[in-house]
This record gives sequence, structure tokens and C-alpha cells, in this order.
Amino acid sequence: MLRIAKIHHITRLLNAPVIRTSLVNIANDGYDSRLGCKIAFINRNYCSSRKGDGEKVGDESIKSHPQSKPCESQDPVKLKECQPVSIHPCKPPPPGFPTKIPSVKQCSTPNMMSEMPEPTCPFDEEDGKRRASYRKLFLLGLLFTAITLGTVWNLGMFDYHEENIRNKKEKPKSDNKRKQRQKRAIIKDPPTSKEIPSNVPYLLIGGGTASFAAFRAIKSSDPTAKVLVVTNESFFPYMRPPLSKEIWFNDDPEAVKKLIFKQWNGSERSLFYEPDDFYTKCQELMENPNGGVAVARGWQVIEVDVIAKKAILEDGYAIHYDKCLLATGATPRLSPIFEVAVADEKIAEKVKLFRNIYDFEECMEAYNQSKTIAIVGGGFLGSELACAMARRDKKKTKTIYQLFREGGNMGKILPEYLSYWTTEKVKAEGVTVMPKTEVIGVKNDGKGLELELSNNKKLHVDFVLVAIGVEPNTELAEKSDLEVDPELGGYLVNTELQARSDLYIAGDAACFYDARLGRRRVEHHDHAVVTGRLAGENMTGGRKPYLHQSMFWSDLGPDVGFEAIGVVDSSLPTVAVFAKATGRDHPQAVVTQEKEGLRSNTEEIPQECDKYASEEKRTELEEARKQSSEPNKAEGEDFGKGVIFYLRNDIVVGIVLWNVFNRMSVARQVLKDQRKYEDLNEVAKLFNIHEDDMSEAAASE
Ligand SMILES: Cc1cc2nc3c(=O)[nH]c(=O)nc-3n(C[C@H](O)[C@H](O)[C@H](O)COP(=O)(O)OP(=O)(O)OC[C@H]3O[C@@H](n4cnc5c(N)ncnc54)[C@H](O)[C@@H]3O)c2cc1C
Repeated sequence: MLRIAKIHHITRLLNAPVIRTSLVNIANDGYDSRLGCKIAFINRNYCSSRKGDGEKVGDESIKSHPQSKPCESQDPVKLKECQPVSIHPCKPPPPGFPTKIPSVKQCSTPNMMSEMPEPTCPFDEEDGKRRASYRKLFLLGLLFTAITLGTVWNLGMFDYHEENIRNKKEKPKSDNKRKQRQKRAIIKDPPTSKEIPSNVPYLLIGGGTASFAAFRAIKSSDPTAKVLVVTNESFFPYMRPPLSKEIWFNDDPEAVKKLIFKQWNGSERSLFYEPDDFYTKCQELMENPNGGVAVARGWQVIEVDVIAKKAILEDGYAIHYDKCLLATGATPRLSPIFEVAVADEKIAEKVKLFRNIYDFEECMEAYNQSKTIAIVGGGFLGSELACAMARRDKKKTKTIYQLFREGGNMGKILPEYLSYWTTEKVKAEGVTVMPKTEVIGVKNDGKGLELELSNNKKLHVDFVLVAIGVEPNTELAEKSDLEVDPELGGYLVNTELQARSDLYIAGDAACFYDARLGRRRVEHHDHAVVTGRLAGENMTGGRKPYLHQSMFWSDLGPDVGFEAIGVVDSSLPTVAVFAKATGRDHPQAVVTQEKEGLRSNTEEIPQECDKYASEEKRTELEEARKQSSEPNKAEGEDFGKGVIFYLRNDIVVGIVLWNVFNRMSVARQVLKDQRKYEDLNEVAKLFNIHEDDMSEAAASE
């Protein structure tokens, strides 16, 4: 493996401009283009590339010169524009090389090179001596380069250790990312693009949650609308959250195969938003008087022509639209260390990413065949999957490692004490958690992978699941002239989610302006639902701004979960209030009726918040709060349930409801009202987190 990395680095080094120039020079028989005879050198390459002269071209930059068009015309009149080019080389030409380059006779366009001044470096003896000294210089340079490379190699600086790679700030290559993720064949339906309508009123690119919410909104304002969804996945639209949670808890293998999961309350549900027969066939969409929603599956859009209002598929087929939504979501990324390591196919087979149904199926298969698994990443996805895998292993025959840079699970979101507490919970599920640990080397050890860790330990695992974050899918931006936010990523949109006329963006791929919290990009289910819905409404004539605060949630199994809203970042100061959890304070207690919603109770009207609780109620709650545990509990104590407020400039900008459910509307109102630090005593009461304590106490009396 080290060899591969070394070769990789050497290839890159050889491509470095200085070394490349030197090598080109050496390849050109010691000739140095930087020493005054550049034009002759260029001409030599250029002219010898012309049709018919039989010599190969060596210089890429010349080939790509915009003026260098192929010489095809036989028209003698045009020859006037193409003067023969001759060169005056600065050294005797090698044997067999003509001192005069053959005339460029077959140009249909003027040869720009012929208009360049002729070189003024006549060959003489002085020049010969000078060239001999240049050659010496070159050989010295070459020797120096070789020695430097050798030293660097010996020092191990080409080895792909995390630190080195990170320091170089390499951008992950999306090519590898994609290769890595397309192990299972994509099924195209319809199989040929001709069967996809070429002209539709509504085109939705991407078949995820945002698109699903958009077509529901379009159909509800325009019931006979004809909506075409194009997705590069083989599946009809489905929800992703259960893939890292509930589905791992289903013991019925047949149900798992059919992608059926049990909600925490035990009721069964399909991962797919709608059954297959809900959708109209692509071939029938335009003829159907009642309209419908058709999904072209397995088809990739590679460009949107925003002026001509058409999307181009991978085979060049064009789909014209009246209104278009781009909801292309995001793709998980590898850390640089794995990015390099997966160049080795044997390693690549054992490094997994997790985003879609295929990823789930692959991971489940690998999980069933493995004894040791490492999950890299301490965020939602890594923590959820670690807990789910450990729980699933009822006989405790597997070792599940979870390793990450931070001090505790979800350390980027939760305040330190709560993050540490969560780590204890994750450990209690049977996960071997390794905080403050990074992978710094990856080797194929024959049976699996050997991970070299930053704590000087080595870990043998059967496979690794990398869950360190995602990148928005904005590949269409360049060809489609769309703007991407340089810092946050995602297509830039206005508050109506428009990127250009009749082109909308929603979900993970949108970078939107939040009037209260500034420019943001959000990678959560509820945000995809809300932005998809809003885009759909605006595509059918609405002109609504995006003012809604979406929420997100994470469940570490049926017992511990949280919901959050706004800017939830552990680097912000926080204030929290906690209480003892009761039998009702866990994710299992939360079920929603909304089809696309899962836990997405986005349109709820604040109830508990009714400006606000009565004086009597407040006193009662205040009393209860005093008697029970106060925010700053000692480490190790039970943070059963609570509310955590995140402050920026003393204003509440984010809230986590820790094992507190059905209070999101209150939290939303608090953010909307821009409540301040000094209000928090009052604000905390609105969440009634002690209510259940009191009712339980009353019941037991
Ligand atoms: C395992 C998992 C668990 C999660 N759990 C939670 C959770 O508990 N809570 C929460 O709030 N959020 C959760 N999320 C995040 C949430 O699922 C996403 O934020 C949401 O799916 C985003 O929806 P979207 O429509 O923007 O993108 P996606 O759902 O990613 O859909 C985008 C679709 O577009 C397709 N596509 C991309 N480019 C093209 C193209 N050029 N042509 C055609 N098709 C294209 C993609 O393949 C994909 O099918 C989870 C995500 C995952 C993966």
C-alpha cells in the first residue's frame, strides 16, 4: 500500500511544472525552451503535429491553443493565409531532423504560429558553448532532483499518513467517491431515454425527499399536473433516516429485504414514500388527462441549459421544462487517508460509505459476515449506526469500534458534558468507543484491514464504515452556469429558493438565506421536506419566501434521542435545564401521522407557547424546577431529558430537545422571538419538562 501511495505522490511530483519542464527539455534532447529559443521550440511541436507530417505532438498546451484548428481544407486560395513556417534552431538539428519544417499547406484557418516573430538566435560557436553549459546545468538539476526525491522517500514523506495528507489540504476527488459508491448496478427504467417525455411542465431532478415533497405540493395546487422526476438511483423516492436506525432493529430478514421497518412504536412501514403503482409510467405521462408523477430511474442529468430551459441526460437526450427543481442531495465523503487508500481495489472493497439503499444492503451483508467492524465518525450517522449494529448483535459475537477525533459522541453538536454522557450511553449499547482517535494508516492485511491509529495502536477489522460527513451534489453547476457558495457549498438561491428563472433548488443541495441566522445550508430530512414543499408551491405560482425554521433529530436507538432546531454548534455558549427522564421520555414515544414526516412536525401551530403559561402554572413549574436537578449537573449524572439553548451574542439561535418530544413548536417560537440570555429562566418553563415528573409523583401518591 505504501508503494501505491508513493507512486501516486511521485506521479504528482513529476507533474509539478518545474520538474515537468525539465523532463520535457530532456526529452527534447537537452534543449531548454526557457533559454531564449522558446518560439522555435513551440513551432517545432506545433508544426510537426499537422496532418500528414507523421510526427507525434508532445506539448499539450499547444494542442489546446484556441486558435489551433485542424488543417483540413484543400482549397489553394486559403493557402495564402497559411504561410510556411520555418524555424531557426539554436543548435544543430539531430540527424534526420529537417532544418526547415515542412510547410503547413492544408490549413483552412490562418496559422497563428506563422504570425509569430521569427526567432533571432542564429547558430554559432558561442551558442554551442552556451548550450553545453546549459546541458551541464540540467544534468546537475536532474541529479539534485533525484537526490531530493530519494531523501524524501526515505524519510517516509510519501507515505499516506493522515497528517501529511491533511496538511496538504487535498480536496477529496469526487471520481473516487463515485467509483466507491457504485458497486451495484444501476437499473435504468425506462431502459432507453426515448421513452422519457422530451417536454414536460414540471421536471424534478433527483428522486429524494425534497423532490417527493415538491411533487406532493405541485399536485395539491395543480391536481392534473404532469410531473417528471429524473433520478440516478434505481429506486422510487424513499426516506433515508430509517436506514441508520429502525431498519437495523427489525429481526425479520424478509421484511428487511423488502425494506420494511418497524417504527419505534412497533407499527410497520415501508421505506418508500409511495407504492410503485402510485407512479405513472414515463411513456404514459403526457397522454394522461389527469396528469401524474412519473419517475425515470437510473438516469443522470449532466447539464441544465437554463436559457433554453432543458435538462440534458448522460446520453445527450434533452428534456424541455416549464419549471424545474434541482434536488440532487449530497454524497458522503471519505477522509483523505481513505481517499488515497481506496485506490487499491482490495481495500476499496472493505471501505463503505452510507447514503442509499445499496449502501445499506452492502453494509448489512458485510455486517452479517464480519466479526470486527470499525465506524469512523462520531456524528449522527456514525453514532446511530454504531448503536444499531451493536444492538442487532444480540449474542454479542461481534466487536463494533467507533472512532472519531472529538472527545465524545456528537461532540460537534452537543456541549462537552452531554457529549461525554452520550458516549457512555453508546458504550452501554456494546460499542467500543475510541474518542480522540484518528486513522493514520490503512493496510490490506489479507483477511481484512489493518488500521493504524493516532494513539499508536493497530486495529484489525473486517470492514470500515466511514461516516464523516457529506458534500452537496453540485456537479451540474459548472456546465449549467449556476453559482455555488464557496464556503458552505450548495447552489445559491434566493429566499424563494430560486437559482434562476423557473429553476428552483431544495434540500441538502440548496444554500439559502435565513433572514435571522444568515446564509445556511442544512442537511436534514425536515429541511428537505419544507424546502421541497415550498419550491413545489412556488413552481405552481406561489411566491412564498422561506422563513420556516426546520428541525432535525437523531435517535441512538429506541431509548435515547433528541430533536434540534436552528444553529446547534458545540462551539457556541450553551445554557441547559435537565430533569429526570420518565418512562415516556424516549423516541419510542414519538409517532407522527405525516406521511413524509417521520418526526417532521413542521406545520404545527405553537400550543404550549401561548404567550405564555399562566402565572399559576409558572409558579408551579418553577417550584418543580427548583426541586429537581438544575442545569449544571456533575459529570456522570443522569441527563435523562432536558433543553439546551445555544446562544450567539446572547440571543438564542439554536435549541436541542434532549429526550423531550412534541415541544418543537415551542422551540421554534423561542427562536422566532429571538429570546435573550436573561429570558432563559422564563423560557425554560415553556418546555414543561418537569410536568411529567409532577404527574408521575401525583400518580404515585
Ligand atoms: C442514513 C441516513 C440517515 C439520516 N437520518 C436523518 C435523521 O435522523 N434526521 C434528519 O433530519 N436527517 C437525516 N438524514 C438526512 C436526510 O435524509 C437528508 O437530509 C435528506 O435525504 C435530503 O434530501 P434531498 O432530497 O435533498 O436529497 P437526497 O435524499 O439525497 O436525494 C437526492 C437524490 O438526487 C439524486 N441525484 C443526484 N444528482 C443527480 C443527477 N445529476 N441526476 C439525477 N439524480 C441525481 C441522488 O442520487 C438522490 O437520489 C439521514 C441521511 C441518511 C443518509
